[in-house]
Amino acid sequence: MAAGRGLATPGGPVNVPIQLSSTYRDGGPVSYGREANSTWAAVEEVIGRLEGGRALLFASGMAAISAVVETLPVGAVVVVPEDAYNGTRRLLGDLSTRGRVSFRPVDPTDAGAVEVACAGAGLLWLESPSNPMMRVCDLAALAAVGHRCGALVAVDNTFATPLLQQPLALGADVVVHSVTKLLAGHSEVVMGAVVSAPGRPDLGAALADRRLLHGAIPGPVEAFLALSGLRTLAVRMERAQANAGELARRLAAHPAVAQVLYPGLATHPGHALAGRQMAGFGSILSFVVAGGAPPADAVCSGVRLCVPATSLGGVETLIERRARYDGEELTPPGLIRVSVGIEDVEDIWSDLAAALSHVG
Ligand code: PLP
Repeated sequence: MAAGRGLATPGGPVNVPIQLSSTYRDGGPVSYGREANSTWAAVEEVIGRLEGGRALLFASGMAAISAVVETLPVGAVVVVPEDAYNGTRRLLGDLSTRGRVSFRPVDPTDAGAVEVACAGAGLLWLESPSNPMMRVCDLAALAAVGHRCGALVAVDNTFATPLLQQPLALGADVVVHSVTKLLAGHSEVVMGAVVSAPGRPDLGAALADRRLLHGAIPGPVEAFLALSGLRTLAVRMERAQANAGELARRLAAHPAVAQVLYPGLATHPGHALAGRQMAGFGSILSFVVAGGAPPADAVCSGVRLCVPATSLGGVETLIERRARYDGEELTPPGLIRVSVGIEDVEDIWSDLAAALSHVG
């Protein structure tokens, strides 16, 4: 992709340089480093082109989510999936205890319930597939529901990435990413992005104001690393997704595994919808170890190749028992989320199978 490479000047660098400057000489379009940065701009061009909108980088995924919520007036109602990413629900809980907004948790696979919850709402938040329950919701249908109710529709597209799913084309007003995850892809960088629909320049301007005024800006070095990561997103995704599909099938047949949650499996309730809505089933899966938390913890401490760690989307396979956190009441105690990496699938499988053999 040519996006984000700057001018095709003979003798010029192939990659944009890291622009390290907090201030700029008077008389130009940018005066200060909190407003804009040419290394950010290259990343924004790439993410914007992939999602089909205007992208803005933020200091983290949470800063991106906060910026969207901060566009709402005081007292606005946010409708949020009951199984949305824990940090999103914690943020809304925190804001609601301080009277900033209120929120209504819903089952996003029940369009009727979403419609009821959306009455009078200012924002419908969606996330598909969800973290870590891997629920798939109908983004086009729910965007229409949200708009009928006059709500802004936002989609956290972190798990799918724009290569597999483009929510703006399905009717959403804004997409958010934890760039930390698959987009940057090497577990080196914490960063976020917001992409607003081309038909909503007002929203793009409001989000740019949030960034300027709240100051949640990324570092130029991090932006450079994220851009390097983005250049290989397609090949990383292809390999990790193929690995995830194979591991999901093998885990589903393992006697120590009670359930596998992966939209690529025909047994997944969202399989047909994901097949229509996504260009692939992604690189993240969850599985439930029979017997609950103690054997699942034993699996996490028994692996040698896979890394027991939080986060996801890097080149290395990470595993985590998600119900170890507060706020994961909907998550089965024995659920392990696997962020499948790009290692040889046989190496990942022998590691997981060895760890599972001690608890089976
Ligand atoms: N959205 C999802 C789906 C996530 O998984 C995460 C982090 O785990 C975030 C948002 C928050 O992103 P960050 O950690 O970059 O702030």
